[in-house]
Amino acid sequence: KVRLENIHKAFGNLHVLRGVDLEVGEGEVCVLIGPSGSGKSTLLRCINQLEEPTGGKILIDGELQGYSPKPLADGRWQKLSEKEIAAQRSRISMVFQRFNLFPHMTALENVCEAPIHVRGVPKMDARAQALELLKRVGLGDRADHYPSELSGGQQQRVAIARALAMEPEIMLFDEPTSALDPELVAEVLQVLKDLAAEGQTMVVVTHEIAFAREVADHVVFMDGGQAVEAGPPSEILDNPRSGRLKEFLASVL
Ligand code: ATP
Ligand code: MG
Repeated sequence: KVRLENIHKAFGNLHVLRGVDLEVGEGEVCVLIGPSGSGKSTLLRCINQLEEPTGGKILIDGELQGYSPKPLADGRWQKLSEKEIAAQRSRISMVFQRFNLFPHMTALENVCEAPIHVRGVPKMDARAQALELLKRVGLGDRADHYPSELSGGQQQRVAIARALAMEPEIMLFDEPTSALDPELVAEVLQVLKDLAAEGQTMVVVTHEIAFAREVADHVVFMDGGQAVEAGPPSEILDNPRSGRLKEFLASVL
């Protein structure tokens, strides 16, 4: 499970995250919504240690991220080595808005690249596993196609299969459908729904409110670097309290 305590992030004097608390239980789906610039991507990047918070704690299954579990005798926290951070990061996979597949590799090669080169899985096993994953996202018949021969929705599904190939405990999605043509959105959301139904723990940034209503265990509304409202979809989406959330929902619906 994921637990964020009082996360702050500043870029110079731009204070982007201002004390965010968040908890996502095992098998839960947390959907983050909020206006542009509210800090959603930055928050995901902190969870994945692509950004280092300027304050607060991130715990994954109780394990402090980025620092050794106990402070030194002088009270300072000892940063983990790059290698230790890489090990922590390998438990988490992230899928971005833009499907950044390797253009010179087939769908199958894209999916088995990291298992072979990062996890040291034997080639044959990695290929068999990759084919299973491509089937799972509905692309069993596209394994040998290059990204340029696939639609945006198919490319994004390959990207999801590639993220799954690392067998992550937690999946982070940053607006996975917002770069897609409208008719391709549903097929990608369906893959996310299937993952949720299988009990994958996920944090999803999306403006797809219908998806959030159907799939989210909780929805968090971010504004100005803070989690302004959080709760089940029925509360946050159907009975928003703050004016800012009402305004935001009116703008995306
Ligand atoms: P969007 O909906 O447009 O994706 P967001 O909620 O994901 O927005 P972030 O990308 O987290 O917002 O950005 C929050 C703020 O932090 C913005 O003002 C952005 O310009 C700033 N920011 C993000 N990354 C950096 C960086 N590396 N250096 C400086 N400022 C940054
Ligand atoms: Mg963003």
